[in-house]
Amino acid sequence: MRFVVKREEDKTDRLASNETYQALLAITNTLDKNLITDTIYREAYDHPDGKRSRVEDRLSLAYHNKCAYCERICKADIEHYRPKKAVNEDGSHPGYYWLCYEWTNLIPSCITCNREGAKHNKFPVIGHRVSAPMLLADGNIDLALSKAGVTPLVDERPYLLHPEVDHPEDYFEFEIDPDGEGIRIIGIDGEGRGNATIQICLLNRLELKLDRVERVINDFKDAINALFLKLENGNINDGQLADRISEHIDLLHERSLQENRNHTYLSKYIVASAENFEKIVLPFLDLKIRHILIEAFKSTN
Ligand SMILES: [Zn+2]
Repeated sequence: MRFVVKREEDKTDRLASNETYQALLAITNTLDKNLITDTIYREAYDHPDGKRSRVEDRLSLAYHNKCAYCERICKADIEHYRPKKAVNEDGSHPGYYWLCYEWTNLIPSCITCNREGAKHNKFPVIGHRVSAPMLLADGNIDLALSKAGVTPLVDERPYLLHPEVDHPEDYFEFEIDPDGEGIRIIGIDGEGRGNATIQICLLNRLELKLDRVERVINDFKDAINALFLKLENGNINDGQLADRISEHIDLLHERSLQENRNHTYLSKYIVASAENFEKIVLPFLDLKIRHILIEAFKSTN
């Protein structure tokens, strides 16, 4: 997960329309959740390459075609961050039906992060749970108070972090999996929201731990190993080796700025400090070259 800026003006015309607001009023006035329709919050259309969704298209722009939770490029479905029809942790809660068309409540998620057993209708909170929309004096819904980053919703302190509200560097670090299964994400905040988010979306499932290595580490590792082989074969000298290593470390820094790549937050974490680089990257390199790499990292920083 990494922080995402999704602009209010980027939502679809249909979501922004008065017609959608009237449809929402009908739901909140009758509490009939069968009226919630994906023709509004998904808005499917035919595309020469297959069925598409206008809302997904807009979310993909902000999220660079990545899942909000596991940060992999994928076909992401529209996920209601606050579940629209029921909440697992509270059987008496009607679900956040009044947020079914709210832009800040629509998040792109891969089917694995959002399936039953993972996120689905889970939504545990630390604070007081909100169970109805805020109304204006005339009975209309106060849409400004339906936003994820605004009171009263933000005061729920959801355990599940919101990529447009919460900053991942306050909640997550990474470590090498002790069982040799790639790279784990770990929660670091005192309230336990980071760890809860990992649990809810199963962010340490095996495929993800291995994918982090494959997408973020392996190219670098292969390039460095090839350089040392060239040195051994006499194809380059020590000076050339040092220059090429610096170039590859520069590439790691560059990659951490590319939001359209898989696992950008891990890339950012790796280059944030020599300690992080040492902890996450060096274990994948041969013991006898590690000291050269860490010195090179420090001198390019
Ligand atoms: Zn995912």
